[in-house]
Amino acid sequence: MHAQFLPSLLPSLDWITDTTRVAKLSQDFNWYSPVLKRQLSDKSADIVVRPTSQEQIQAVASACATHHIPLTIRGTGTGNYGQCVPLQGGVVLDMSAYNQVLWIENGIARAQSGIRLIDFDRVAKPKGHELRWIPSTFRSATLGGLYGGGFGGAGSINYGPIASLGNILKVKIMSVHETPQILEFEGHEALNFHHTYGTNAIVLELEFALAPSVPWMESIVCFDAFEEALHFANELSIGSGYSKKEVCFVSSSIPPYFTNLCTHFKSGAHAVLTVFAPCSEMGVKELAQKHKGDITYLKNAQEVEQSNRTLIEYTWNHTTLHALKVDKSLTYIQSGFDPTRYVEQIKTLEKALSDEVMMHIEFIRTKEGLVNASGLQIVRYSSDDRLQEIMQIYRDHGVQINNPHVYTLEDGKSANYLNPKILTTKDDLDPQGLLNPGKLRTWVRKTH
Ligand code: FAD
Repeated sequence: MHAQFLPSLLPSLDWITDTTRVAKLSQDFNWYSPVLKRQLSDKSADIVVRPTSQEQIQAVASACATHHIPLTIRGTGTGNYGQCVPLQGGVVLDMSAYNQVLWIENGIARAQSGIRLIDFDRVAKPKGHELRWIPSTFRSATLGGLYGGGFGGAGSINYGPIASLGNILKVKIMSVHETPQILEFEGHEALNFHHTYGTNAIVLELEFALAPSVPWMESIVCFDAFEEALHFANELSIGSGYSKKEVCFVSSSIPPYFTNLCTHFKSGAHAVLTVFAPCSEMGVKELAQKHKGDITYLKNAQEVEQSNRTLIEYTWNHTTLHALKVDKSLTYIQSGFDPTRYVEQIKTLEKALSDEVMMHIEFIRTKEGLVNASGLQIVRYSSDDRLQEIMQIYRDHGVQINNPHVYTLEDGKSANYLNPKILTTKDDLDPQGLLNPGKLRTWVRKTH
């Protein structure tokens, strides 16, 4: 049966059939990569469905399994690697209307996967809690999309990536069988579906640990010297007494792309964008002075709220977005430095490639608790071959590349290690290989 007949089988569901809307809901932000844009821009589902309940999701999963129709799950499509772009047509399962907070208690929450992160925090903050990490897309991105295709974000300087044990406590998932199974996994097993691009199950609910809510302040600090800016960012990140949520370092070629903020940057300056608690205001000022930095922007939580602008939307992959708005020929790379020598690695690579690669570093804590640098460098793209060469130069300096110019799990962030559990859970929960086909390259369908 063709996917377009599904509305006649399940008429009470919210189906989207208009081809323009279906095409739009089949794409994400893969266009950041000239390589992915070429490969994915013409890919589309046949139909989109937006369920509001577990029963409706179950009905879609069952119909797809019965009629062998590909099923690609979507949050709100802010992923960068074509994670939710269907390669083989079929149905896009848009989870954004499955979006209730179920409960918040004792620093733990449980929510449906389609909830937008901003909506979750709106409920959690009055109760004294907030999400441990928010991607810079927090206004639109969903919890299930962050878990299924993301890494972390602001807050990862304290709690590491989502994959750090203790962040995600339980996951409730649904299989794709004629009679879909509903299962719950906890502890380390709750990560078997994390960053799997929705290839091994439909995530229904997540239970996760929260952070205490803080009235965060925001600031931009400008520096004449690259090294002073880097050391300021590093000392702020390492300093255990500073209470912070975000430390983002950008070299001097990047701030001119922040056109809405340009009055807050000194011409030719390197900058650190930071989000910190009021108790650390004095510490940030002293540290800036030590490194000859000028604080050119400082807002308290109330001012941030009133301005309806947060510096978080200039960090992580929003930095790249602002640059792309000005110059569409740019692209980017993603890199994970060595926690024992990242400062030296950054300085060396800046010297080697500063004409072509604009340094953007997010400071994070690793799963093991070490402070480290995670790069989202902006690249002046010239050719696919040169892009590969640049990534190889990084690797040659001992920096891990999480290639954002590929759409399969095995070639991106999981290039060095793919959890074998991902393949075995797919055998069990999606035996026909209907979930996001083509994204899990090494999975082979078992013949029965
Ligand atoms: P989608 O893009 O819709 O989906 C992501 C993946 O998860 C897809 O493979 C999809 O199939 C799968 N998925 C979605 N819902 C489910 C579900 N219920 N069950 C199973 N699988 C599911 N990422 C970060 O980690 N940190 C950042 O700071 C960050 N900043 C960004 C800034 C910009 C400007 C952009 C464009 C991207 C950024 N990203 C970042 C990437 C992306 O925004 C995040 O990963 C985001 O959380 C994805 O959420 P989404 O709802 O848009 O997911």
